[in-house]
Amino acid sequence: MNAEQQGKKFLASVAHYFDKAAALTPHPEGLLNQIKICNSVYSFQFPIRTGDGYKTITAWRAEHSHHKLPVKGGIRYSEEASADEVVALASLMTYKCAVVDVPFGGAKGAVKINPKDHSRSELEQITRRYTAELIKKNFIGPAIDVPAPDYGTGAREMSWIADTYLAFHPEQIDALGCVTGKTVSQGGIRGRNEATGLGVFYGLREVCDNAEDMKEIGLEKGIEGKTVVVQGLGNVGYHAAKFCQEGGARIIAFAEYEGAIYDENGINLEDLMHHRKETGSILNFPNAKNLDRREDALEIECDILIPAALENQITAENAPRVKAKIIGEGANGPITANAEDILQEKGIMVVPDIYLNAGGVTVSYFEWLKNLSHVRFGRMEKRFEQGTFDRLLQLIEKETGRKLTREERNLVARGADEADLVYSGLEETMISSYQQIREILKQKKEVGTLRTAAFINALNKIAVCYAELGIFP
Ligand code: GLU
Repeated sequence: MNAEQQGKKFLASVAHYFDKAAALTPHPEGLLNQIKICNSVYSFQFPIRTGDGYKTITAWRAEHSHHKLPVKGGIRYSEEASADEVVALASLMTYKCAVVDVPFGGAKGAVKINPKDHSRSELEQITRRYTAELIKKNFIGPAIDVPAPDYGTGAREMSWIADTYLAFHPEQIDALGCVTGKTVSQGGIRGRNEATGLGVFYGLREVCDNAEDMKEIGLEKGIEGKTVVVQGLGNVGYHAAKFCQEGGARIIAFAEYEGAIYDENGINLEDLMHHRKETGSILNFPNAKNLDRREDALEIECDILIPAALENQITAENAPRVKAKIIGEGANGPITANAEDILQEKGIMVVPDIYLNAGGVTVSYFEWLKNLSHVRFGRMEKRFEQGTFDRLLQLIEKETGRKLTREERNLVARGADEADLVYSGLEETMISSYQQIREILKQKKEVGTLRTAAFINALNKIAVCYAELGIFP
């Protein structure tokens, strides 16, 4: 299947999920259609100079819904990008933001390149030119449209975008809020880099902490001791694996571009990253078995499967062979609509992307707030809080006549810094958003899946925005 066909399939899956949920809401058809369609897509071409002459680059930015502004979503650098893929991803951003109560509409961008085929200076040229094209058409700005990292991009690209935007708009005091996921020195926030993977962990931990739900799928309560398989060792997969491992789960298999490995006793992530750096591959890792095909990892018996690579990975073809009890969607759209029905019949619990990988955009929201307020979170109150706790402890010592040890004192007398607040805000978001979805799932039998519940939750929240404006009341 070529990139265009993959994109079409992805868009059809999202439409299917939307329709399924929409049918269970009381909203009028006109309103549902307004929410479903993509408001604007900017598709453009530009030339770049490479080592062997000029090359034309194809790129997009889709703004799916303007019910809240700015619109928000990553920029992907991928040879497999297509217009339909960008639209599908932009629409997922709309629903994702609604699910986690982040006050943005959804957007997504893509540049059709393989970043590995370009030098650093070419990538800089592409990124700056892409930004300039967005500026020309008013498709970027802190109040308009705020990109972020996605597949194939990271903090470096986001900092180039911010720098380019600032060069065009030196008079805009909030200009740094035009993009998130920047390096900390360029106005980024601590915790953004690991945010999506950390959110995946917080979400899965919350799912596993419900004894009743776990019993239904034959599992014990708690993430500790669960066996996990991770597809993709990019930013999301790596951090999801890292936090799951730290949380006591056992990662028994990893899949990457070059292949997949399995060890039922568990694979240490940091040792594996070291091995990959040394040898250029995850294969032939000590004690682990190389699997025949990288896709085989998806079919391993495990408690939790985390697809954290690209869309359309679990399809009607391989879904019957999936043996995980829980699938946590780290990637956007890894399960096709046909596969979803098969998984549901098999009783596999799918924790959907529009909830589970929303940690990235949640912390992007915190970064944007930081940029608009021009002050680091915790800067004003950290010392003050510490002083208050200190005085309280002194009173306790005086009243009890016992001197606290330094460790005991440090445990309590501590003010929150930026990273503490970001982690705490993300944890709260992932817990409370899950409770909302679970509630909807439990209310009506017809809802059936966490995905449909998440879509219903998003649709209801977006519908309120339109209704309050008197549009489609
Ligand atoms: N690209 C990420 C996503 O798919 C993050 C988007 C953002 O931070 O705006 O959710």
